[in-house]
Amino acid sequence: MTDDLLARHQAVLPKWMPLYYAEPIEIVSGSGCRVTDAAGRTYLDFFGGVLTTMIGYDVPEVREAVERQLRTGVAHTSTLYLIRQQVELAEKIARLSGIEDARVFFTNSGTEANEAALLVATNLRRSNQILAVRNSYHGRSYAAMGITGHRSWSASSLNPLQVAWLHSGDRLRGLLAKLDEADHIEAAVEDLREVLATQTAGDVAALIAEPIQGVGGFVSAPDGLFAAIKKVLDEHGILLISDEVQTGWGRTGEHFWGYQAHGVTPDLLTFAKGIGNGFALAGVVGRAEVMNAVSAISFSTFGGNPISTAAGNAVLDYVLDHNLQENAQRVGAILLEGLRAAAADTPVVAEVRGKGLMLAIEFVRPGTVEPDAAVAGRVFELAKEGGLLVGKGGLYGNVLRMGPPLTLSEEEAREGLAILVDAIARAGAVNG
Ligand code: PLP
Repeated sequence: MTDDLLARHQAVLPKWMPLYYAEPIEIVSGSGCRVTDAAGRTYLDFFGGVLTTMIGYDVPEVREAVERQLRTGVAHTSTLYLIRQQVELAEKIARLSGIEDARVFFTNSGTEANEAALLVATNLRRSNQILAVRNSYHGRSYAAMGITGHRSWSASSLNPLQVAWLHSGDRLRGLLAKLDEADHIEAAVEDLREVLATQTAGDVAALIAEPIQGVGGFVSAPDGLFAAIKKVLDEHGILLISDEVQTGWGRTGEHFWGYQAHGVTPDLLTFAKGIGNGFALAGVVGRAEVMNAVSAISFSTFGGNPISTAAGNAVLDYVLDHNLQENAQRVGAILLEGLRAAAADTPVVAEVRGKGLMLAIEFVRPGTVEPDAAVAGRVFELAKEGGLLVGKGGLYGNVLRMGPPLTLSEEEAREGLAILVDAIARAGAVNG
């Protein structure tokens, strides 16, 4: 029973690992875009295990690929031996990355992928200075927490890197808020030049940025910002790392990678989450001369193992064969339009934003930009009551995030939308 499991969870797991919902659920099965909990309730899943169940639950192609690998008797061989599945997946990702003469290094998590990107950049540039963005999230190692501009996720001030901070693309608050896109880009470039001149010794290794800040509440940089920023970075030989852990594989609809909205190619790109559709698989891609800069031997016991890369190959083939990027764009547009229409005269919603199937609603006190985490929390619980799972996020915990499987149908989008609209109306009514 879930109740019993909750008590056992609390008895053996640390309290800094949060659980969603006043009454946490145990998901025991899933199919397509739906999951069922231990109490037998079925939910439409608009969060996909934090954007990770990218092609839905129980996909035969993935199950069969993993089973085929398991039947060989080899769940693991060291990366000291050739692994066919790893090479095949690296070839596909290198080709899709848009990066010339690309090399791919596989890890088990987004955190490790960012660590690897930082390792490469700091080795190449012989500097441990990094530029990062306020309100970012990059993982939970010391270096990844060190470049995470989100206080509640940075559990340690110990940082192997020297970090200087750039302003984020938040349109509601902060220095760049309310600027139109052209002014925003100009101000962000000015901010970068000023930070370089005043807070660094000049020999910065890299800037790391998410094209859309994920944990930060799906905050998008204006299209084209990365290109304007990269021009300045190039003047100083600073590498650009695009953290595509949430934005990769067509999720944003218009593009396969988030960076492509900016008309510029990063030097390094990190990926994770969706590519394994639940199997632990992540990595970093970069140009050969950048990736090969690591001066000592570095490898990962489990990174690129036969099981996760078998899954990764099947997932990536599925995304491409079923044109899921196009589905994300089409169904995402329906969801965005429906949410915007519903929010138009709802004083507790400040903004509905996002791209493709990466959409967010930000809640505030009526008539202000003051974050209202309480109303967001009520909508979150009411949506669950109505049979819909979404995510929470944002610096102030007042943003609801939607990152459903990219297989979401129009019908499912409308079903989820109706539940959300009802939840918002009921939660907003309390605020008068
Ligand atoms: N980078 C981004 C943008 C993320 O959203 C996350 C996780 O949410 C990470 C890195 C860390 O990934 P992982 O939790 O797999 O270590």
